[in-house]
Amino acid sequence: MTTRPIARHGRDYLAIPGPSVMPDAVLQAMHRGAPNIYAGELIDIAASLVPDLKAVARTAGHVAMYIGNGHAAWEAALANTIAPGDTVLVPATGRFGHGWADMAEGLGAETRIIDFGKRTPIDAARVADALRADTGHKIKAVLAVHVDTSSSVRNDIAGLRAALDDTNHPALLMADCIASLGCDRFEMDAWGVDVMVTGCQKGLMVPPGMAFVFFNDKAAGVRAKMDRVSRYWDWVPRANPEEFFMYWNGTAPTHHLYGLRTALDMIHAEGIENVWHRHDLLARAIWTACAHWSVPGGLELNVADAAHRSTAVTALRLPAPYGSALRDWVETHLGLTLGIGLGMAPPGDPAWHGFFRLGHMGHVNGHMVLGLLGGIEAGLTALDIPHGTGALDAAASVIGRV
Ligand SMILES: *Cc1c(COP(=O)(O)O)cnc(C)c1O
Repeated sequence: MTTRPIARHGRDYLAIPGPSVMPDAVLQAMHRGAPNIYAGELIDIAASLVPDLKAVARTAGHVAMYIGNGHAAWEAALANTIAPGDTVLVPATGRFGHGWADMAEGLGAETRIIDFGKRTPIDAARVADALRADTGHKIKAVLAVHVDTSSSVRNDIAGLRAALDDTNHPALLMADCIASLGCDRFEMDAWGVDVMVTGCQKGLMVPPGMAFVFFNDKAAGVRAKMDRVSRYWDWVPRANPEEFFMYWNGTAPTHHLYGLRTALDMIHAEGIENVWHRHDLLARAIWTACAHWSVPGGLELNVADAAHRSTAVTALRLPAPYGSALRDWVETHLGLTLGIGLGMAPPGDPAWHGFFRLGHMGHVNGHMVLGLLGGIEAGLTALDIPHGTGALDAAASVIGRV
C-alpha cells in the first residue's frame, strides 16, 4: 500500500542540535485552550519560572524573559549593555561566535574578532593579550559562546573570567549558553559570568519561542548607565515586572509557559547534576562509536580532543558528499534526521556535503542514542562508506558499564 521504505514506519527522530526532542509531558502541558492572561494560574506559573531558571543557570542574579529565539537573546543582551560605538571582543570558535559578533555590529558596535578556527577552543592567553593591549579599556564586553553548535567546540568560560581578572579589565563577560544550558555543566556565578543568554528549544526541551537573558548586579550597573535602551529589549521591567504583561512587554507566550513549567519540573526531578552526567555519558558513547568508525578517508570527529567537545552536539566530517548522502539515507530509510554541517563550508561548495552533526541535547536517553548510532551504522553500510567495525559494541559498553 505504501512506497515508504520498509524500516521507515514508526516514530521519527529529530537528532539535530536544536530544536531538540520535546518530551510528551511538555507537549501535553501545552495542549490546552487559551488561558486567562489577567488572573489565575498563568500569573503564578510565570513567577515560579524565575527561581527555577536561575537554579538551572546556577545564579543568584536576575533573569529577563523574551518571546524570541536565540538571536533575540543575543540582541537583548547587547541592547542593554552596548551602545553604538562601543567595542566588543569576540573570541570565535565557529559560526555562532561570528553570528553574535554580527549582531553586535548591527547595533553599531565595533567588533574585534579573534578567530580560533572551527576545531579548537578559545585560547584564554590570547584573549588576555588582547585585553592587556586595550589600555584605554575601550572593550566593553567579551562575547563568548560556551558551546559553538556549528563546530561542537566547548569553551572554558571560567578561563575567560581569569583572563579578565588577571588583566584587571572591567569588560563584561557574556556567555552564549543556547546550546549548553541544561546539557553541559555551566555555573554562571561560580565562573564569574556577568551576562548569559539562552533559548528554550535546546537543553530546555520546549518548542522554539522563548529566550532568556541572565545578568548580575555588575551588568545591571552597566545597563543603568546606558543613555538609551529600546523599550522592547530593556531587561529592567522584564526582570522586575510591576504588572504581569511587563515580563514580555505585551502578551505572554501562554502555552510556552506551561511547557517550560513542565520541562523545568523534569529537570529538577532529575537533578541538574544528573542531567549533566547523563549528557556526558551519552556523549562518550557517541564519541566512542565515532572513534571506531574512523578510518583514513572516512569519518572524523571535528574536535580531536574530547576535553573540548560539547556533550550536547557532535560535529563530524566525512569525505564529501558522504555527509549529505548519509543524512539523506537515514532520514529516508529510518525516519532519523541528522543535523547539517553549519558554517563549515560555504553553501554551494561541494565540500559542504562532507559535514554533518548529531544533536544529543535535552530529552535524550540511552536507547535513543544507541538507536541513533545503529542508524548511522546502517547508513554507512548501505552507502559503502568506509568505516571501522565494533562501534556499536563499544558504545553499548560505555552505557552498559556505568
Ligand atoms: C541555536 C543557537 C543560536 C541561535 O539560536 P536561534 O534560536 O536559532 O536564533 C545561537 N547560539 C548558539 C550557541 C546556538 O546553539
